[in-house]
Amino acid sequence: MKKTIQRKYARLIARTGANIQKGQPVKLYASVDQYEFVTILVDECYKAGASKVMMEWDYQPITKLDYRHRTLKSLSKVEKWEEEKLKLMTEELPCRIYIISEDPDGLKGVNQEKMQKARIARYPIIKPYRDAIENRHQWTIAAVPSYEWAKKVFPDLTKSQAYNKLWDAILKTVHVTEDNDPVAEWEEHNKTLREKCEWLNSYKFDYLHYKSSNGTDFKAWLIPEGHWCGGAELTKQGVVFNPNMPTEEVFTSPIAGKAEGKVVSTMPLSYEGQLIENFWINFKDGKAVEWDAEKGQSLLTKMITMDETASMLGELALIPKNSPISESGILFYETLFDENASCHIALGAGYNDTIDGHLDMTNEECRALGINDSMIHVDFMIGADDMEITGYKDGKATKIFENGTWAE
Ligand code: ZN
Ligand code: ZN
Repeated sequence: MKKTIQRKYARLIARTGANIQKGQPVKLYASVDQYEFVTILVDECYKAGASKVMMEWDYQPITKLDYRHRTLKSLSKVEKWEEEKLKLMTEELPCRIYIISEDPDGLKGVNQEKMQKARIARYPIIKPYRDAIENRHQWTIAAVPSYEWAKKVFPDLTKSQAYNKLWDAILKTVHVTEDNDPVAEWEEHNKTLREKCEWLNSYKFDYLHYKSSNGTDFKAWLIPEGHWCGGAELTKQGVVFNPNMPTEEVFTSPIAGKAEGKVVSTMPLSYEGQLIENFWINFKDGKAVEWDAEKGQSLLTKMITMDETASMLGELALIPKNSPISESGILFYETLFDENASCHIALGAGYNDTIDGHLDMTNEECRALGINDSMIHVDFMIGADDMEITGYKDGKATKIFENGTWAE
């Protein structure tokens, strides 16, 4: 991929995505094999006004070795210096930029149990810091291709063909072309998403009913004090940022503990570096009570039983089947993209920012209204070509989706 277009993309991430403020520090998470793009991005961060850019490098094959060779005790420990770093983050409030490029099943073969136990052990120490920065700083997730990921997406192409094709596909989804103004396109795109949210918010639905011929027949109740969000978000300090690049979704957080019926997945799910395919989940009293998967059944069970609240919902998202990502016909094996191809729901944590007036509320207050709190937040796709979604308010029905797309 040409350096000029990579720079254009990097600039978009730094400005429209993270919207780095003059003098603000940046924390950048990336894989070591992406050093070339990341160098351009760091340059763009400084040009946007960053006071310092702190790198958090990662490399999947090394993560895999760590899980194989370190003891559970060693993996579970949060070192003092790690905690100091987290503490510093709550004081400096850096923008966080995540560049993802991992192989969707690059952690295949890792002992899932060990991974899960280590995560559970580390969580209580990390959580207070995570809560302390919520809504107080900008963050964004964007992607660049790796050869391994590209081969997974385009298995019939050569390594370099696949890599170039994935670059093209990614840039298309984030509205970057050689001769356009991506910042202006993002503004236009955000406006469209905002209009959809306003339409949904005007109804104040009590619950949504999803139905499709593959077996999905499911109801989820909405928080009365909640609303639909999409596209750009706002920090407590009033800074606009775009958390996901790309994004096509309009979403809300349902009431944790109030959902009934069956959902059937319509796309494979890459979770913790491994795939779960062709699965369904039954909900009762808001909790997943029964499930099955053709592939990755035990991983699905680990995910749903991660903690007490992983079996409850944190998100409902609406995406029409004619969104640019679903029309590309590409299965990315990466939630950042695939979630924008299809209606999805998420198990685990909900989003405080879907509550009216959340910026003046505490986490506890949001949770008391029905926002789920969990160690996980995992999106999975349930959108089908013939999906119908109906919203109900005081018993009155309004069609939201018909044949997999907006009813109006
Ligand atoms: Zn989503
Ligand atoms: Zn989500």
